[in-house]
Amino acid sequence: MHRALALGVIATLGTLTIAVAAAQAPAGPSQAAVAVTKIEKVKDNLYIITGSSPTPRETFSGGNTGVFVTDKGVVVVDTKLAGWGPTILERIKSVTDKPVTTIINTHTHGDHTGSNEFFGASVESIVQENTKANMTRMDAFKGDKAQFLPKRTYKDTLTIGAGKDQIDLYYFGPGHTNGDTFVVYRALGVMHAGDMFPWKDAPFIDRSNGGSGRQWPLSLKKALDTVKNVQSVIGGHQPVATWKDFATFQQFTAELWSQTEAAQKAGKSVDEAAASTGWLSKYPGYDSTRLKAAVQAIYDELSGK
Ligand SMILES: [Zn+2]
Repeated sequence: MHRALALGVIATLGTLTIAVAAAQAPAGPSQAAVAVTKIEKVKDNLYIITGSSPTPRETFSGGNTGVFVTDKGVVVVDTKLAGWGPTILERIKSVTDKPVTTIINTHTHGDHTGSNEFFGASVESIVQENTKANMTRMDAFKGDKAQFLPKRTYKDTLTIGAGKDQIDLYYFGPGHTNGDTFVVYRALGVMHAGDMFPWKDAPFIDRSNGGSGRQWPLSLKKALDTVKNVQSVIGGHQPVATWKDFATFQQFTAELWSQTEAAQKAGKSVDEAAASTGWLSKYPGYDSTRLKAAVQAIYDELSGK
């Protein structure tokens, strides 16, 4: 082929590829997703903007977003997927005129940090130190986007605000990732647990970000032993639950680990282990749609992969 012609063909293909990509890119949140994203009062000055499950994809917005209206301004916990900033702000404005002053991300994932950028680089933003390290590896926070990385970090615990506005942040060890924060609204008896308590099903153990199926129940046990006087728990992608529900999930993660470890020792394949679901009957209302992925992650962890 003539060189100029060949270059012309390549240029045309390039333009076509860009045009196709643009046509496929979602133009912001879908109507269906916006419709299921509501602001709900949890207690007094604390609200959530509801998140959704990653499946079905059409209505996926990200995790639950906490909205805590303090005297100084609004503290936002988790910012859903990229593109959700305007919807989050619109929902906040339906309950308060105060500005967003602080963002806390429970962990690194894009469905919890995706709209940090929308709130600008001057907002105070706080994460556990391992989560900041994980975020620096994300494309969404590289290059000139590094200005949107959280400014403030902590290792084990951090208190911000005082009196009725006090928030206690805790890191209890690895589980979903190696940097999951538990946000405790002391005066209200509410805790935001993020994806350490994602849904009533096997959890996503993100070993690429330091997650651990072995440590998960131990970290939750620490939370149960340390945090006092909490009645309501905000999970990652489920309706607001009770402290008892949270304790049940801790038992579930402990049993998920022990059942899977026993299956591996008995020489069962991942498929066989994931099909052995008899023990799940102890957990009414729990699904097993994510069990196989969790079993695979635990097999990998057991074999040192
Ligand atoms: Zn997550």
